[in-house]
Amino acid sequence: MTSSDTLPDHVNAAIVQKFGTEVTLGSIDLPEPGPHQALVKLHASGVCHTDLHALEGDWPVKPEPPFVPGHEGVGEVVALGPGEQFVEIGDMVGNVWLWTACNDCEYCRTGRETYCESAEYGGYTVDGSFGEYMLVDTRYCARIPEGSDPVEVAPILCAGVTVYKALKVSETKPGQFMVISGIGGLGHIAVQYAKAMGMRVIAVDIADEKLDLAKRLGAEFVVNAKIDDPAEAVQEYTGGGSHGVLVTAVHPAAFGQATGMARRGGTIVFNGLPAGDFPANIFDIVLRGLTIRGSLVGTRQDLEEALDFYARGLIKPQVAECRLDDINGVLEDMRHGKIDGRIAIKY
Ligand code: NAD
Ligand code: ZN
Repeated sequence: MTSSDTLPDHVNAAIVQKFGTEVTLGSIDLPEPGPHQALVKLHASGVCHTDLHALEGDWPVKPEPPFVPGHEGVGEVVALGPGEQFVEIGDMVGNVWLWTACNDCEYCRTGRETYCESAEYGGYTVDGSFGEYMLVDTRYCARIPEGSDPVEVAPILCAGVTVYKALKVSETKPGQFMVISGIGGLGHIAVQYAKAMGMRVIAVDIADEKLDLAKRLGAEFVVNAKIDDPAEAVQEYTGGGSHGVLVTAVHPAAFGQATGMARRGGTIVFNGLPAGDFPANIFDIVLRGLTIRGSLVGTRQDLEEALDFYARGLIKPQVAECRLDDINGVLEDMRHGKIDGRIAIKY
């Protein structure tokens, strides 16, 4: 390994020892970069609701404790492993959910690498950014635009690229309506991308503070789904339904409501990943020609584009800072929907 300076043997990290409600603060061995990998000294890491799903073991495909969560990490390359490298020591890079992929399957060959069946996931199947140092695969890591604030850019690495890609696959055009359901870490950035892409934004959440934030960020109409029926409100406001509906919410109820908000021929994209099912009426989907699709993060090209929106000042994540030691409190607030925008650990 070639490195820039003397490195510690052990580093602090937040570790999931077993599925449950708290991570353990402890120390791990300094990771050693393998072929095409770099060792990164972290400056910041966003905290995504996926990290909470990982801690709680919510999903059918589970990570194997012990592991270090975090996939919105931004830091500086301090050492390189062997083999061909795509970054240099001193570069600012980030880890992402799509930590690596095989580059040789049907999905990788056709520019759909997020669906690679051999992919590894940052902070899930590979240790992530809730620690002082992490590894990245330099073929898949994010390249952070010059002049970025590490805390502010961190949420683009997952929340940003995910909603940017979802808006693209919704095929909603400039001037058409886009509902963003769930105005959390993903949703508050989705409002901004949708605006920047020329869409007319409607926000749905169950908390007034989130809806106020959405209004400040450019939503023209908001619905509190705890008080009003979102399908009725959106059908009336848009005169026949929204062309696109993007669900980033963390409760299955929002998924059941999504089809009711859509226009005939409209597309509903699911980003949120709460455990569970949602009801859908077959007759309604067929008669109104609806498309329902899932969307998982974004490709390397989507990531470059999403970061470019940030670099050009079109997107500004709302981020509050915390310290690594605060992580259990942050996860607890997230569990109760108490976070406005995103929280990022500052190292
Ligand atoms: P978050 O906790 O920051 O935000 C969730 C939001 O959902 C909150 O604002 C909350 O008030 C809102 N909400 C809860 N119940 C609702 C309801 N019934 N109707 C409307 N809104 C409701 O979470 P986040 O970090 O934005 O992540 C959101 C989800 O997206 C998580 O399930 C996460 O795992 C998933 N995710 C998916 C991808 C992907 O690639 N598909 C990527 C990142 C995150
Ligand atoms: Zn995430």
